[in-house]
Amino acid sequence: MPVVTFALGHWVGWAVAWLATWLLHGTLLLGAAWIASLVVRSPGARDALWKTALAGSLATATIFVATKHGVAPPAAEITRRVLVDRAHAQAPLRTALPPLPAPGPVVPPWAPEIALAVWLAGALAGLARLEAGRRRYWRAAGDRHAIADAEAADTLRRLRAAARVKRTIYLTAADGLEAPVAIGSAEICLPAAALAALTSAQRESVIAHELGHLVRRDPLWKVGMEIAAAVLWFQPLLRVARSQMAESAELLCDGFAVRVTGRRRPLVEALGVLAAAFRPRGVAAAGFGDRGSPLVRRASRVLDATRAPARPLPAILRGALAAAALAGTLAFSPGVAPPPPGDVRPAIRRLEAVGVALNAGRTDVARIAPGGFLRLDENRDGRRRELSVTRGADGRALYDYRENGAPQPFDAPARRWMTASLAARR
Ligand SMILES: [Zn+2]
Repeated sequence: MPVVTFALGHWVGWAVAWLATWLLHGTLLLGAAWIASLVVRSPGARDALWKTALAGSLATATIFVATKHGVAPPAAEITRRVLVDRAHAQAPLRTALPPLPAPGPVVPPWAPEIALAVWLAGALAGLARLEAGRRRYWRAAGDRHAIADAEAADTLRRLRAAARVKRTIYLTAADGLEAPVAIGSAEICLPAAALAALTSAQRESVIAHELGHLVRRDPLWKVGMEIAAAVLWFQPLLRVARSQMAESAELLCDGFAVRVTGRRRPLVEALGVLAAAFRPRGVAAAGFGDRGSPLVRRASRVLDATRAPARPLPAILRGALAAAALAGTLAFSPGVAPPPPGDVRPAIRRLEAVGVALNAGRTDVARIAPGGFLRLDENRDGRRRELSVTRGADGRALYDYRENGAPQPFDAPARRWMTASLAARR
């Protein structure tokens, strides 16, 4: 699994890594759903494909970024002059210079911030547009009031029993509404004018269709989808997903209404009555006479008695689809790892050794020739360590060890650091 590492700071790095990873995973899964939707016609299968692609890519991108992090760049050595007194050497330092590491991908330091600012501006504009549309819709619809109609309440009770819906469902009406709408998880709102124009059988079909939306949690999916399309505006496949999910939802709720009421024709008649009440700018009204329109497709699908009413994909297949998408994406898709924890400034190491021999474990200087010395400096994670070893008057090694300039005893942790630093980067 290739991992691209950018050395970015803190949350900017995390945000850019998540967005870039989601762009990769989302393109893979939404693209696969889109290709599959070219051959799969069943509304239940299409619905499952798009939902799996959307929720799956959000999940895999989050899992990827939460479980991976980039590695700090290896120490860059500015000097490595190693001359060993071979006569006294027991464990000589390496004399060959190791190859320099290949340079990583070059990203201008300001690029992540610019990318994040552009994304944020687009996301905020999209959310503002969404909120303005929502307010416009409800201003036009006007106040919602409970439907105090015994027959409508009785119809709803019967439908809930037939569909085995346990929770309370509120039936409301609004004067300015153009089409029936399911709201949140428990409300069906009908246009007051159209309600009066429907026969009781037609009204039953309409309420059954909207009940279908509530059972499928369509209002919540719709809000989630709208927010995803606004925030993740740089992914055009989300717009394809949104329109195909909406169309599949209508076909599946038509199927639900036919199964629950046991009748096909009143639903199609209600579609016609509601479309006629629509103002001309309405999509359904504009497309009513034209063969390719969603409304005609819905009506012919409902009236086609040779086909069973549309139904959702069985739960076991939906589960298998989700498992395959998650496992496949996490196993094979690349992603962008967030920056490593801590300071990401590359370490700088400087080593000079002349006429010294280390002991076998490289924990100590075993011998040091007259005029010999060892100097090891390292800058890493904001900490500077300097070790200077010279030959004392008695011929033994003298240690001068400093951390951030302050003299420190050359104790066991300091020795461990020296050993690790000398062993690093073969
Ligand atoms: Zn609907």
